[in-house]
Amino acid sequence: MRTELIAANWKMNLRRDGAVDLARAVRGVAEGNTRGRDVLLAPPAVYLGPVREAIEGSSVLLAAQDVSAHEDGAFTGEHSAEMLLDAGCRYSIIGHSERREHGGESDELIGRKVRRAFDTGLGAILCVGEKEDERLRGHETRVVERQLRAALEDVRKEEADRLLVLAYEPVWAIGTGRTATPKDAAIMHRFIRDWIGGRFGAGTADAIRVLYGGSVKPANAADLLQNPEIDGALVGGASLKADSFAAIISA
Ligand code: PEP
Repeated sequence: MRTELIAANWKMNLRRDGAVDLARAVRGVAEGNTRGRDVLLAPPAVYLGPVREAIEGSSVLLAAQDVSAHEDGAFTGEHSAEMLLDAGCRYSIIGHSERREHGGESDELIGRKVRRAFDTGLGAILCVGEKEDERLRGHETRVVERQLRAALEDVRKEEADRLLVLAYEPVWAIGTGRTATPKDAAIMHRFIRDWIGGRFGAGTADAIRVLYGGSVKPANAADLLQNPEIDGALVGGASLKADSFAAIISA
């Protein structure tokens, strides 16, 4: 049985007080969460400290939104995997479509980030997903396979078992209010799980969590999460309000 994970990606939103208030509210929700789901917060990097304090001693997990591919040195503005572990992170989101698109991140760079994270013991929530034109041309599985292959090229089975979470995020559904149908999401999740099985073996495929992301909200969360292929959600917009995120955690 896979423990579902509900992960909040706050992106570049909130200010210190709002982040702390929201983290405290999520902590309360997670403590009363009867579904047994894991809950994770990925605040902006400058608020990792205050958010860590707000969730200290609870089961809520902390994550970064990105990680450097480098160790130390002249990489202005970047945060190394060691720094994120120091800040209390268990995971980093890697390969989010906004970083691929606005940060110009290539599949190859994303692979190096995953490698760096795993070398230090930092987990990765690896995001994959096709753009709308790629789906319209019927190329969605080809794109996702390319992203998986590049990101996981050097990863060992033991690392995948211990440190890897996958998130299928069709780009056309992120922040748009449009969501993949549970059926379409499930088809892609199955494809991803089968690919993982081919790469790391059936045990890893069975155990690995594949989250869905793309306009998850209280109104569609239950439909998505009740599908056995969907092991949780990566939530952007709806994670910025305690009540909507709470509704997704308990959907
Ligand atoms: C995301 O940022 O990963 C995301 C899925 O955003 P939203 O829920 O707003 O579509």
